[in-house]
Amino acid sequence: MKKRHSDCKRADGFCALCELSSGRTDCHGLNIPNLLYCRQLKGWTLRQLSSDTGIKIAAIQQWESGRRSIGNASAVMVAKIAKALSISVEELIRD
Ligand SMILES: [Zn+2]
Repeated sequence: MKKRHSDCKRADGFCALCELSSGRTDCHGLNIPNLLYCRQLKGWTLRQLSSDTGIKIAAIQQWESGRRSIGNASAVMVAKIAKALSISVEELIRD
């Protein structure tokens, strides 16, 4: 899996869980988009989330990179992702 930061201390590149991260920032002090944060807390890879929800990896990556807002996704997709990650819709779409 491609790491968010190549020098991340975590082998899996889960910067939300990195020893140097705090709150919702990663090990470089940058804000982590909420979906990325929630997925890493769950311990899931992109592929796992994609296969569980049936949503294309490319679409998930757009939300996780912050290029698109998950709040603008269809309600069906938002509900699927929230269910897959065992969080509420409110938690998922907060910014
Ligand atoms: Zn890190």
